Amino acid sequence: MKEHVCIICGYVYDGALPFEELSDDYVCPICGVQKNKFEVLTHDFKEAFLKINYGLYVITSKSENKDNGCVADALMQLTDEPPVVAFSINKVNMTHKILTESKEFNISVLTKDAPKELFSVFSAKSGRNIDKFEEFKDAKRSPNGIFYISRYANARLSGKIIDMTDAGTHTLFRGQITDAEVFNNEETLTYSEYREGAKYRQMFCFQCQQTARGTGCTMTGVCGKKPDTAHEQDILTVEMIALAKAAQDKKTDDSQTVDLIVDGLFTTITNVNFDTAKVASLADKIKMKRIKLGGGDVIKADDLFYGDKNIVSLRSTMLFGLRGMAAYAHHARVLGKRDAEVDSWFIKGMAALGDKHTIDEWLGLLMELGSVNLKCMALLEEANTGAYGNPVPTQVPLKVEKGPFIVVTGHDLHDLQMLLEQTDGKGVNIYTHGEMLPAHGYPELKKHPQLKGNYGTAWQNQQNEFKNLPAPILFTTNCIMPPKESYRDRVYTTSVVEFPGMKHIEADVKGHKDFSELIKHAVKLGGFPEDKQFKGMNGGTNVTTGFGRQTVLDNAPVIIDAVKSGAIKHFFLVGGCDGAQPGRSYYTKFTEQTPKDTIVLTLACGKYRINDMDAGKIGPFPRILDMGQCNDAYGAVQVAVALAKAFNCGVNDLPLTLVLSWYEQKAVCILLTLLSLGIKNIYIGPTIPAFFSDAVVNTIVEKFNLHPITTPEQDLAEILKTK
Ligand code: SF4
Repeated sequence: MKEHVCIICGYVYDGALPFEELSDDYVCPICGVQKNKFEVLTHDFKEAFLKINYGLYVITSKSENKDNGCVADALMQLTDEPPVVAFSINKVNMTHKILTESKEFNISVLTKDAPKELFSVFSAKSGRNIDKFEEFKDAKRSPNGIFYISRYANARLSGKIIDMTDAGTHTLFRGQITDAEVFNNEETLTYSEYREGAKYRQMFCFQCQQTARGTGCTMTGVCGKKPDTAHEQDILTVEMIALAKAAQDKKTDDSQTVDLIVDGLFTTITNVNFDTAKVASLADKIKMKRIKLGGGDVIKADDLFYGDKNIVSLRSTMLFGLRGMAAYAHHARVLGKRDAEVDSWFIKGMAALGDKHTIDEWLGLLMELGSVNLKCMALLEEANTGAYGNPVPTQVPLKVEKGPFIVVTGHDLHDLQMLLEQTDGKGVNIYTHGEMLPAHGYPELKKHPQLKGNYGTAWQNQQNEFKNLPAPILFTTNCIMPPKESYRDRVYTTSVVEFPGMKHIEADVKGHKDFSELIKHAVKLGGFPEDKQFKGMNGGTNVTTGFGRQTVLDNAPVIIDAVKSGAIKHFFLVGGCDGAQPGRSYYTKFTEQTPKDTIVLTLACGKYRINDMDAGKIGPFPRILDMGQCNDAYGAVQVAVALAKAFNCGVNDLPLTLVLSWYEQKAVCILLTLLSLGIKNIYIGPTIPAFFSDAVVNTIVEKFNLHPITTPEQDLAEILKTK
């Protein structure tokens, strides 16, 4: 039987059924990608050779008038007294020719941050055609007059050839070391890492929780992002950094510059925009604006995620946090709200990404970003409640009524408002999906009778949930997955969300969107012939939302009495993004096991794992209270602050524990906000971000007592013991 391997995470299928007979719905149990991401595994001597691991080096030499060098992996120390090494070089290489003539060499020991350009110059190009040291400038001459790699190397060894042995295609050189120098303590790049990274790397992205192998997507994104899109997103990012620096130099934060940066950042969030041409065109617009402002240098896109691993970690956290904050700023902006401090921090934060900072400076910037994001989220709450009123508790059916309907997913309440206004009296019903569910709680939205209920669950289930739906789907924000053939013709995107080939609805200059084509499509499809009852993940037939900040605070006296009388012993905030990883069942089990005298607050799409559970009531309150979208995290923070005030204690002294699930970049800026507020003892899962280096994790754990989740039983026992 042929073995099949997942090209994303390396999992080898070992099930009882032959791989070919698995249904099309089969997904990789490790990384969750679909069956088409598996390839037949071949075993031959080359495969076995790949299991041998060694370091990577640049061997350089110099003849009378020619400097040259090439990457070598076959190198070993033979003896240390005398210091002798052996290495082999292919006879066709120019370096081979020069070595045999000069009989002198340098060995540069490469480090893990060695960039693609180094390999493209010293591995892919021939010294017969180019001057390698004209193309690669990070090189210096050692006392023997030969170049060595001065950056991306941790040591240099210089020596003379003792003898040469013919080895067929190669020559085996034995050389005595005459001089050496250690530059730093960076780790040496290994051949297997090189294969994973530089040589075969088509892209690099590690911004979300489902990143391949928990380290980074290098061949294609688990989310479906292709290398060319990833590449354009990196170019867009470095263009935004250059624009921010130009704006900073000009001392301007004009709204057009900020809007371009906010849109660019939002575009690069996971599951937002898969349209390479659109990403490239936005990068061009940003470039034009930079040139107009007189801006100069743009850093290399490849340098975004290269360098000292702690600095890369902190810089990436900053970039991803800014991407998250951009989503919130964008939603507030479409409702006419913006804030000067938030706007200017987009410039400050993006410009900072292009500068060098110490670890302490990065940590300071991250805390500042967390504080500014609190402002940004307050602005969004003001925008939402100003436009649509304070959410009120609302029971939402999971039944789809017969007749034409449209499913709306994403977070953008303004898009939903325009669609509701355009479907008034048209006989077309509207159902929310994913993060749009909390819209049912807003008085100005729920007044439209055609806003009937909620269909489906969280984003990661869309490919199954949309396939047999007799209705079109409108994606207003993340999270769009590559649409399946079965429903491609029914997908509409708007705003920053785009997928090649899908219908996109643009706003006009006044921000108005014409949804008539979508509405006609719904009428044409006709919907279900009869009412159809759907169920939540736990079998429930309706869910309740709308326990926003105001509702909870209006009930503060009752809640405070319940805590004082012992009727409520503890609050849990079980919230955050959902995703496909099997480990996310933790959150369902955790909620199931919370004691009956505790309240579970929830928000964001992770709620779908628990929101249809019948967990009972405490007094007038259901035990599970849905506070809204991830965009409503500000409300949850304010409830915690208000409770602390009422009990005359700090937030960390409240009987309250945050048990968060993260997936994409909005969760990053929320975490930074919570840390900037000094909130401790947060439980986070299902995994620690790939972009957190060990040192960054240790710092956060030490300073904020952050807990990576373990098991529901163990974590609950620990929480309830200490509170
Ligand atoms: Fe991989 Fe996530 Fe990046 Fe997509 S967004 S390429 S899944 S890390």
